[in-house]
Amino acid sequence: MTFKALSQYLDKLEKTASRNEITQILSQLFKTADKEEIDKVIYLLLGQLAPNYMAITLNIAERMMLRVIAQAYDEDINKVKALYKQMGDLGNVAQSLAIADGGALSVSAVYDKLMEIAREAGAGSQERKVSGTAKLLGELDPLSARFVARIPVGKLRLGFSDMTILDALSYMVKGDKGARVEIEHAFNVTADIGKIAQKVKARGLSSLEAIVPEPGTPIRPSLAERLPSAEKILEKVGREVYVEPKYDGFRSQVHIYEQDGAKTVAIFSRNLENTTPMFPDLVAAAKGLKVKNAIFDGEAIGYEPKSKRFLPFQETVQRKRKHGIEQAVKDFPLKLFIFDVLYLNGKSFLNVPFDQRRKTLEGVIPEAGEAIEITRQEKVASAEVIRDLIKKYLAEGLEGALIKKIDAPYKAGGRGYHWVKYKKTTEGGLADTVDCLVLGIYKGRGKRAGFGAGAFLVGVKEGTRFLSVSKIGTGLTDEQWREMDKRARSLKIKDRPKEYEVPKNLTPDAWVKPSLVVEILADEITRSPIHTAGLALRFPRLIRFRDEKSPEQATSITELNTLFEMQKSLSKK
Ligand code: ATP
Repeated sequence: MTFKALSQYLDKLEKTASRNEITQILSQLFKTADKEEIDKVIYLLLGQLAPNYMAITLNIAERMMLRVIAQAYDEDINKVKALYKQMGDLGNVAQSLAIADGGALSVSAVYDKLMEIAREAGAGSQERKVSGTAKLLGELDPLSARFVARIPVGKLRLGFSDMTILDALSYMVKGDKGARVEIEHAFNVTADIGKIAQKVKARGLSSLEAIVPEPGTPIRPSLAERLPSAEKILEKVGREVYVEPKYDGFRSQVHIYEQDGAKTVAIFSRNLENTTPMFPDLVAAAKGLKVKNAIFDGEAIGYEPKSKRFLPFQETVQRKRKHGIEQAVKDFPLKLFIFDVLYLNGKSFLNVPFDQRRKTLEGVIPEAGEAIEITRQEKVASAEVIRDLIKKYLAEGLEGALIKKIDAPYKAGGRGYHWVKYKKTTEGGLADTVDCLVLGIYKGRGKRAGFGAGAFLVGVKEGTRFLSVSKIGTGLTDEQWREMDKRARSLKIKDRPKEYEVPKNLTPDAWVKPSLVVEILADEITRSPIHTAGLALRFPRLIRFRDEKSPEQATSITELNTLFEMQKSLSKK
């Protein structure tokens, strides 16, 4: 397929708002794409060159892209800048300057070139990136240039996600959504959507039946449900359950495998980012485990060996940095608690019942290791014992407990009652904190004037929209206010994003583009005639900025309604 043909699809997709129509266009595109190329087509559609966890990015700043465009079309940089100011989009600028009627390059040729540019490193690499991208643009027709110019600056936003692609793949093979479950299952087990598409295209749906995890490719993690009481948990999860402490740190899926003859370790976060470089100490410890290859699931948390105290998330998070890792390893030692095994020595464990997975785990992970140990666990059949255990965990500075179904398979990519989380807030009021999107900020008045932001508006998700649920003006420390102000400032926009639904009289002084997710703890959820969510949070407090969550992962209105119902059932007791 030529890149020009792909660009015609991109153009159509850009002009389409309906998800159904987008799915149809995509399925048409997938039918037309060659089986050798469909993976590349999909990465490019998502504005990427590879799945996120591979961290292959072009990373060209807008300023640099202006130079690229000037060089590509032999134009004066000031003219390019002026065009950008006028058009507001680098893609449109490139399109307006492109003259080549070209269009002969294939998708693979463009992709390979972009990949080569992304892999440039070392001395002089920036210049090589500029000239490489300029050369590529110069060979493209105007429409192709528009899209290629947007990719390196992260601006190819076509407004659909992995899930729409999965739907479209189902339409490609079956003409309807009938294959969606199977395809999604495969995606949960090996989170590389390009590879899955290629398999389906080359060898049909049946090639997905035997899909097994591949060390090196992340598995979409299992997530927990909430329930309002220990009694309800026993009712729903099983008369006998496993209870484990809930550590509040970094979700860490640890892959151990052989690559090019060497034992290799890769660690993936809850969102499947590759976090390996953050944890050289855990990598070294994982290499020491006596396994040929494996995928473990666990949580890494800051730990003070002397006092045996676990650190709160705010301190653990200091490990999340790009520079000074060596010092951070010393200052903030971590302990990785492994709670599951998904793959071991060439065999998938996803469908093995949890109690057997646990037995296997006990055979390979030490009970008391220096950096890695197995998560404590107790088999419990009484609500009272569950409550006592939680009290014990909380006294140790932990976040709460996870209650797990004894014979459940590992549910990749899903939330369900095979795992229930039970936090300290569970019986005191709200069954959980709420992850909200910051929609806008209000200027500080009076005491808050010095901080810039004096209050902020947050919302929950409904489909692709965000509904306002609380205006928060208290419950932040001075440091948190400063942080809020700093972050909101860099995300400020003039116009209300069309997906925000906010009552007129709550219009903030500045809108914040959909990016900043905050975890909010409230005393209560109340019905609200004001907020568009129809519910509001009473006495909200900011727990933390949830950098690892994207706006799509904010709490949904359905989840908030469930929490509201849970709270009603609690207050009746
Ligand atoms: P939150 O972290 O706010 O509870 P979440 O949406 O990130 O929400 P949940 O599925 O709700 O994640 O809670 C499960 C999380 O708890 C896991 O992602 C994992 O990071 C963490 N965790 C800590 N201890 C355990 C454990 N023993 N077993 C499973 N998960 C654990």
